Amino acid sequence: MRITNLNPGDDIGASAWLVEIDGHRILLDAGMHPRHEGRAALPLYDSVANLEVDAIALTHCHHDHCGSLPVALRYFPRARVLMTEPSYFIVERVLHNSVNVMKSQRAELGIAEYPLFHHREIDEIAHLFQGYKYRREIEWAVPDYAGERPLPTLEFFDAGHVLGSAGILIRGKKESLFYTGDICFDAQTLLAGARFDEISADVLLMETTRGNTPAQKEWSRTAETARLITHINDALGKNGSVLIPVFALGRTQEILALLALEMQTGRLPCRPVYIGGLGRVFTEIYDLEAHRIERQHPNLSLLEALNLAVLEKGDAERMNLAGGKLFVCTAGMMSEHTAAHDLAVRMAGDVRQSVFFVGYADPNSPGGRFKASQPGVPFSFSDSAGELTRRCAMETFDLTAHAQRDELVDFAFQVQPRVVVLGHGEPGARNWIVEQVQEQLPKISVHSPLPASVIDC
Ligand SMILES: [Zn+2]
Ligand SMILES: [Zn+2]
Repeated sequence: MRITNLNPGDDIGASAWLVEIDGHRILLDAGMHPRHEGRAALPLYDSVANLEVDAIALTHCHHDHCGSLPVALRYFPRARVLMTEPSYFIVERVLHNSVNVMKSQRAELGIAEYPLFHHREIDEIAHLFQGYKYRREIEWAVPDYAGERPLPTLEFFDAGHVLGSAGILIRGKKESLFYTGDICFDAQTLLAGARFDEISADVLLMETTRGNTPAQKEWSRTAETARLITHINDALGKNGSVLIPVFALGRTQEILALLALEMQTGRLPCRPVYIGGLGRVFTEIYDLEAHRIERQHPNLSLLEALNLAVLEKGDAERMNLAGGKLFVCTAGMMSEHTAAHDLAVRMAGDVRQSVFFVGYADPNSPGGRFKASQPGVPFSFSDSAGELTRRCAMETFDLTAHAQRDELVDFAFQVQPRVVVLGHGEPGARNWIVEQVQEQLPKISVHSPLPASVIDC
């Protein structure tokens, strides 16, 4: 088996792994780097451009895992694209949204290479997409002229990270590989947590997002949720509004579910919740596809339980922020020209307003800088907004959708592979996992490959 790391960065970056097994090749994920610009955000497809690829399989529909799919298909036009059923309903929307974002970045930031693909191109490749149920073995390889069998297969296992997320088990004639994608082992408010109990494989390809984050002894999702609700109530008591910056897929729906449940029990007053347009689309899909997955509160329909209002263009700049409004809107890192960015600019200097972070924000993003800001001390927020001085309330809550680092090491112990390959993490995060695996499982060879590195196992 041969594995090539196509992530252009040595960080979480863009996930894309080329796996060769029994003479066939499959691309696992086709992400886009969220912090690189233009073609530099693409996986290193050029380094494998002369190779034939039988199939592309996606773990889930976050931008860093599927955002370069149309470009991947230009390199590998023979490939069909396999994903879970829920992802099938999401992927085209994510890609069309990317085109819109790239077009506005071309206009606003002058990035001439954008967009890297067009709306029409997405429509032209859509027939290659195939949605599959979890726990079903699928042949993905194209038979050669000799018709030799058996062909390698794959199977999707629920990863508990966002709707449709999966770990992928590849089985060849003699060897197997398990690719985790992004994992959440414990149950979130809606999703039930990864179901990886029976997995064993020769090679384990694993995410390491939280390798840098020591486990907090007192941390529990329930306690963290209760703390969030207390702070929201305090904020509403001041007659101010609350901004929770989130990503449209996954985090939006988990936060909405949490708010809906707390409003149903009366611990939170019933208020309209303002969300973004794309967040609204994915919320609809979460409701409609609830029956396809193992879920908590399977009968909770977010659209029925909440009074949701979609923010229209310009609303964030003009709306009256008095009277206790709840904003659960994009972007999670407060990127410029998003509702979360524009609301943060207006709320920062006002003591009645509150901004609550519930997920990761890159330290070099506006959200990361806002998160690190000290009250009363000016800080540089973004190019368009310049400097802000924060007087509003701000809190951070750990409601992660990623596995704790000790859980990752335990999982490696469960899978008992010969080889562990690490990705989707900052260098320090990967190093911590490398050390732990080497210490606890000395027989396993551990790799933390650089961009374009090839591992022969
Ligand atoms: Zn993800
Ligand atoms: Zn990811």
